[in-house]
Amino acid sequence: MNTGVVKASMFSVLGFLGVAKYFRQVEKAELNASEKQRQVRIKASPQFQRGKVIGRMPYTPYQESKLYLNIISFLNRSRLKPQASLPYVKADIKALNKRSQSLRVTWLGHSSLFMEMNDARILIDPVFEFAAPLIARSWFSRNVNSPVTKEALPLPDVIVISHDHYDHLEKSTIKYFADKPVCFFVPLGVGKHLENWGVHPEKIQEFDWWESAVVHGIEITATPANHNSGRTGFDNDKTLWCSWAFRSEQGRVFFSGDSAYDDHFQAIRKRLGRFDLAFMEVAANVKNGSGYPVENCGHMQARHTMQAFQDLGAETLFPVHWSTFELFTHQWDEPMNDLIEEAEASGARVVTPMVGEVCYPKRRQEISFWWRKIEGASERKASAPVTESTYSHQETFIYSD
Ligand SMILES: [Zn+2]
Repeated sequence: MNTGVVKASMFSVLGFLGVAKYFRQVEKAELNASEKQRQVRIKASPQFQRGKVIGRMPYTPYQESKLYLNIISFLNRSRLKPQASLPYVKADIKALNKRSQSLRVTWLGHSSLFMEMNDARILIDPVFEFAAPLIARSWFSRNVNSPVTKEALPLPDVIVISHDHYDHLEKSTIKYFADKPVCFFVPLGVGKHLENWGVHPEKIQEFDWWESAVVHGIEITATPANHNSGRTGFDNDKTLWCSWAFRSEQGRVFFSGDSAYDDHFQAIRKRLGRFDLAFMEVAANVKNGSGYPVENCGHMQARHTMQAFQDLGAETLFPVHWSTFELFTHQWDEPMNDLIEEAEASGARVVTPMVGEVCYPKRRQEISFWWRKIEGASERKASAPVTESTYSHQETFIYSD
């Protein structure tokens, strides 16, 4: 990892002396070698067939016409979003600057997480801006600001990526960290994007499913998911997608990435054991024949999320992939209301920190129903209790802008 950094600084000195041309040649050769190695691995991977990942997304018949749902999504977009930008807690940089031995999590919105344990800093699927190419920026604007800038965040030891979709892999973020002493763990094939954006191949580790590496005593394993990939419309399924398992003495954590419900959750538990904490993606349930069956595009309705969580044998559910961007046809807070209903029925333990709020998931705490206090929040069942959070809201500043 450090070799890449040393090389980068050498290049700038040599460039100043006017001899970079020769070394650029060497770098190109390194990139070619890296790509060659990547293609060999893709060819040998059981996940790929003829250069593409084997797809296995489910298909649920639409109860309303797909065209109708898309039109609703288009016309109703402003009503699906919150009326104003959602509140968040400004990340406590002073606290984060001191490394954490025990499991500590700061949700940065959507599926972006700053997770610490064993004194390691792990940045997962970091997206600080919007979840689309520049041209579609306004369409995929954020409902809540990032609680911290990438510049202010303590430097992570490793950046972990689940797949190459825009809401999980942000070019500007990768470019920012490219010349920093950080290593990148990505699913097989995704390293090509990173190299195109200036990350030295030596800083990238590409994983096929079930492959592991150890960082600060944490065994990090790429585990299966049921999704898809691509950024341009011309590169569909050319790179692998995955979920991730992080296992150490301080905690056993699972991150779902994006995935439809499938038997892989049971397979992961069978192979890696139970988890203390599971970051799980969640979308709204199809109710009374109305709504978008998100499994058809590789995601989970709340009922699927709960089933997957139970399959994993995890102790605490930390829902992600909700509230930050409008991706489907449901209202921004519908996934969480549905998930809470599922949790009330099954007795599952859920933690629901605000964006930016520091969370120690192993500590007991009441659910904070912060999203229900937002003006314009969805109608909900009267039976659902609203309790004050035991997080120290009074010690933090809640921003709304
Ligand atoms: Zn995705």
